[in-house]
Amino acid sequence: MDLKNKVAIITGARRGMGRTHALAFAGAGAKVVVSDISQEECEGVVKEIEKSGGEAIAVKCDVTSKEEVDKMVQAAVDKWGKLDILVNNAGIVDFKPFVEMTEKDWDKMMEVNLKGYFLCAQAAVKEMIKQKGGSIVNIASVEMGQVGGGMPGLAHYCASKGGVVAFTETLAVELAGQNIRVNAVSPGAIETPMSEAAQDNPDLLKQTLAKIPMNRMGKPEEVSNLVLFLASDAASYMTGSTVVVDGGWLAT
Ligand code: NAP
Repeated sequence: MDLKNKVAIITGARRGMGRTHALAFAGAGAKVVVSDISQEECEGVVKEIEKSGGEAIAVKCDVTSKEEVDKMVQAAVDKWGKLDILVNNAGIVDFKPFVEMTEKDWDKMMEVNLKGYFLCAQAAVKEMIKQKGGSIVNIASVEMGQVGGGMPGLAHYCASKGGVVAFTETLAVELAGQNIRVNAVSPGAIETPMSEAAQDNPDLLKQTLAKIPMNRMGKPEEVSNLVLFLASDAASYMTGSTVVVDGGWLAT
């Protein structure tokens, strides 16, 4: 999985899986735009990449702002002349019993987890069409509506991730003729700051592990390996796929 001469944007990359995707992509030779709401923390990831001999820049981008998204894509083009890969990773989660969920809770979830993916993909695709190709990886979740994927308290999150899968398939079909591949990755329970509630609460952790045949949460790097594969030319005949990386969760 060689990403030499490829330029990649990773959103939500200051921490969690976005950070490990950025490190993995740089390790495979890509030039990486490390993007997140906090510029300062992106700089930290860039330093880590540079320390291991990679190339990266930090770009502040709230994915819900079209203006900031357009600037992020422009930053990649200004620095390296092109954009080959987008990883739509920035996301939020928020547990709320369904009857207590407010319109504001719902809208915020859709704004980040769906509209953000739309804005970033559209800005990236405009560049990819100019250079006659590209690859997009959208991060969904096992909580996307497949068998076994429902999760109490996450009606809005699950709806947004189901939307990511439908969005991925539609873009794949629409953009295949322009040599742009679009795939999704659905992680199970992964050890990141987002899943701290499950990691730190023994009862919740027990409930979570009970669903996972491998009886452990995944490491962010175990997801990055798959994202890297799908983004790379090694997956040249894959588009419109949603690939699960969940320790067996959805197989039960
Ligand atoms: P994380 O540790 O919370 O990292 C997500 C990053 O996205 C954070 O740095 C966050 O910044 C950033 N972000 C949030 N809103 C943003 C916005 N509007 N614009 C730009 N960046 C924004 O989460 P993670 O676990 O690595 O999750 C990465 C992706 O995997 C998400 O799409 C998530 O839904 C998905 N996923 C996670 C799991 C899991 O078990 N961890 C499982 C399935 C799917 P702030 O911290 O400032 O909000």
